[in-house]
Amino acid sequence: MTDNTISENSVASVHYTGTLPDSGEVFDSSEGRDPLTFLVGHKQMIPGFEEEMMGAKVGERREFTLTAERAYGERDDEAVLQIPRDNFAQLEEQSPLEVGMQLVAQMPHGPSPFTVTELTDETVTADFNHALSGKSLTFSVEVVELRAASEEELSHGHAHGPGGHHH
Ligand code: ZN
Repeated sequence: MTDNTISENSVASVHYTGTLPDSGEVFDSSEGRDPLTFLVGHKQMIPGFEEEMMGAKVGERREFTLTAERAYGERDDEAVLQIPRDNFAQLEEQSPLEVGMQLVAQMPHGPSPFTVTELTDETVTADFNHALSGKSLTFSVEVVELRAASEEELSHGHAHGPGGHHH
């Protein structure tokens, strides 16, 4: 059965704006871009986002604030690593490291983005926490399209087509 509200295994396209509730700063928005398309119930989105959008119809707008735990999680101090600066020698021949730089480490489980948070001559402090971890986030969301997922999308665990995943 397919109903016309956001539910498990539906493919939803939404326009959204995410702001930090304390400062009002916009950290992400689909404004001026294609809507974001995702397969509901397959961990494509942060958990609280889907929970708050369940049951929404096309044209419906919702606004909600998620605690960090329902968004990108709490900060994990163990995800901050000290890496010998020598490991970056090759990279630094092209561009010197700077605090605030975002880089990607090749880890056994795949690429892991991190931010350089401190630099000495010997060490690079690499913060692998998501930049939005530890933060409450407010989202304003409008549902623009809704359809049932195809068999292929369900087996891949993500949405295909405009705004979704491309192969
Ligand atoms: Zn796919």
